[in-house]
Amino acid sequence: MLNLVIFGAPGSGKGTQSERLISHFGLHHISTGEVLRDHIARGTELGKIADSYISKGQLIPDDLMIRVLEHVLDANPELVQKGVIFDGFPRTIDQAKALKEMLAKRGSRVHAVVGLEVEEDELVRRMLNRGKETGRADDNLDTIKNRLQVYHTQTCPLRDYYIGEGKYHAIDGNGSVDEIFGRIHDSLHQRVPELAEA
Ligand code: AMP
Repeated sequence: MLNLVIFGAPGSGKGTQSERLISHFGLHHISTGEVLRDHIARGTELGKIADSYISKGQLIPDDLMIRVLEHVLDANPELVQKGVIFDGFPRTIDQAKALKEMLAKRGSRVHAVVGLEVEEDELVRRMLNRGKETGRADDNLDTIKNRLQVYHTQTCPLRDYYIGEGKYHAIDGNGSVDEIFGRIHDSLHQRVPELAEA
């Protein structure tokens, strides 16, 4: 059983690499962005609140976001038993501490954090492309700029937090999907004892 956090700036390829990790390691996927977009599409109360933050490129407040994730884990207890990729959560130090508690309560932990590292110009290029291809509403230049600013101030400190915990795998996120996945695969097999023994 393996719980991974996939971490990186918006546009760094978290969703794409999550798909590869899911099929390779047989993990479940929790994307908090997708959970929120689903609520927006269904017009729920949470969706309305989430939309007011997402459309400005801001983060949903920690207490609300933590409750949303706790609800997903409570509703699907089998996820943590089999192993999960957390995609887009945590985004703040407080969320990281909450995740640690939520997993400890369920007899588990984060085994590794995959940090996709990509230059800013490339991030913007990828998000603008995704906006054109998928119509994703927050992939427009104004919102992208806010999301990158929020990433630098609120999310980036998590890199040091997880380096301090000895869990951070710095991955060069440039290149083809296969090349990047190869780097993730090698790094996890070299440094995660649960995988080295497998
Ligand atoms: P993503 O699909 O991960 O890029 O998330 C899209 C948007 O959803 C973000 O820009 C935030 O507004 C919101 N969001 C997703 N996950 C979180 C989180 N863990 N904390 C706060 N806001 C989040």
